[in-house]
Amino acid sequence: MANNEDIFKKIISHAKEYGFVFPSSDIYDGLSAVYDYGEYGVELKNNIKNYWWRAMVQNHENIVGLDSAIFMHPTIWKASGHVDAFSDPMIDNRDSKKRYRADVLVEDYVAKIEEKINKEVEKAKKRFGDAFNEAQFRATNPRVLEHQAKMDEANTRLNNCLNENDLAGVKKLIEDLEIVCPVSGSRNWTEVRQFNLMFSTQLGSLSEETNTIYLRPETAQGIFVNFLNVQKSGRMKVPFGIAQIGKAFRNEIVARQFIFRMREFEQMEMQFFVRPGTELEWFEKWKAERLQWHLSLGTAPENFRFHPHDKLAHYANAACDIEFKFPIGFKELEGIHSRTDFDLTAHQKYSGRKIQYFDPELNESYIPYVIETSIGLDRTFLAILSNAYTEEVLEDGSERVVLKIPPVLAPIKATVLPLIKKDGLPEKAREIMDVLKVDFMCQYDEKDAIGRRYRRQDAIGTPYCITVDHQTLQDNTVTIRERDSMLQERVPIDSLTEIIRKKISI
Ligand code: ATP
Repeated sequence: MANNEDIFKKIISHAKEYGFVFPSSDIYDGLSAVYDYGEYGVELKNNIKNYWWRAMVQNHENIVGLDSAIFMHPTIWKASGHVDAFSDPMIDNRDSKKRYRADVLVEDYVAKIEEKINKEVEKAKKRFGDAFNEAQFRATNPRVLEHQAKMDEANTRLNNCLNENDLAGVKKLIEDLEIVCPVSGSRNWTEVRQFNLMFSTQLGSLSEETNTIYLRPETAQGIFVNFLNVQKSGRMKVPFGIAQIGKAFRNEIVARQFIFRMREFEQMEMQFFVRPGTELEWFEKWKAERLQWHLSLGTAPENFRFHPHDKLAHYANAACDIEFKFPIGFKELEGIHSRTDFDLTAHQKYSGRKIQYFDPELNESYIPYVIETSIGLDRTFLAILSNAYTEEVLEDGSERVVLKIPPVLAPIKATVLPLIKKDGLPEKAREIMDVLKVDFMCQYDEKDAIGRRYRRQDAIGTPYCITVDHQTLQDNTVTIRERDSMLQERVPIDSLTEIIRKKISI
């Protein structure tokens, strides 16, 4: 069986071959960690955005949308802490000349030990069969405990160093753990340095320091600086939220792993403003609600897990990631953060404007606290694509690759196929297409044998293939083939709209 790395490679090449994701500037050999979305990719991406927007804005009367500009006043990034603190610790290997995130080197080391523990557990599971008590094994097996202690120590030391901004300590940790460069295999490391992730550019034609502006590294600040505008114009009452989808830019030190870590990407963020003191309650509510959103797409629950942060960002009093089991392992997909009143307070201070909310029920003014849900659109795309990618051997021994994308997100909802290219079948198929395309993203395909056309639709995840044959001309019925089961059913043309609508409804 193919290992996960092979599957990841297959997904990447499938994404390119079938018009989901291309490397940016492909004819110039690409631009590192920047990608373009092709004809099906853009549909899937739009559908994910729409699904999120409907769940967050349309279904919450107390959440409204916003679309703020990417360029913002440079002082905003001073206030938010990004100018001073939005950096990653980096380290170079002198032999390979490769650059790494120092914290990620340690995290990878920890992940390897975790793998060892899991192997021990798997082995024991086989050995003991039904009588196996996993929790007890993990809590008592000496080898597991030894590994666990190593992991805990590495994690604790890393967090302490990062919290105290002790870069020499991070280097010492890498040395003590005897971490080698994956490329050169050597331990010839440079010092650890901080690297700010924000891209900067000049506003206007003068290249003076004061004209330096940044490409936003998160969409959240656009929401905070519009808090007063939206609260007043929308007559919003705390608790309420503001949601936004938009591009963000980070000059990531190491950007591999396809669209998992990009330098230009998209976020779907929602800032929820609450009464001070109630924020941890809302934090728990949003954790549960966001997990539910992911599960509502039908992905198996064991592919998700919560990962509470040990090291809290400067603005947070609680934080947790929703991690997804990507082919490259469990990794962050969404962050849920209790950001306190840090951002609004900072903007009040730097802007000189009073950013407060008068609570009519309490009859007092305060700066609201904030719960943020922040999800990467591209990572969600990757999660859906990798979860959908399926290789199947059929009964007749042939193989197919099928993308089992949730129908509500599928790029193309239905494809209309005349069985053959004559006898008036194409004309009839066109008639059906013309009706369906008003409501759904549809395709018409008359090229090649019907089996090949089905495969093409499987490969892009189309839930329904509608085939027009000679009987159609007599009784206005067609066969409709369902993607996952491949079952075909004869139905009246009049019922197609309703069948598709049902399939893709939330
Ligand atoms: P990581 O630890 O993976 O660098 P982060 O903790 O910096 O991520 P946040 O600042 O919490 O990420 O951003 C919120 C979400 O934005 C993440 O959960 C992720 O889905 C997405 N995201 C962040 N950085 C990138 C990136 N470089 N490429 C694609 N998506 C990203």
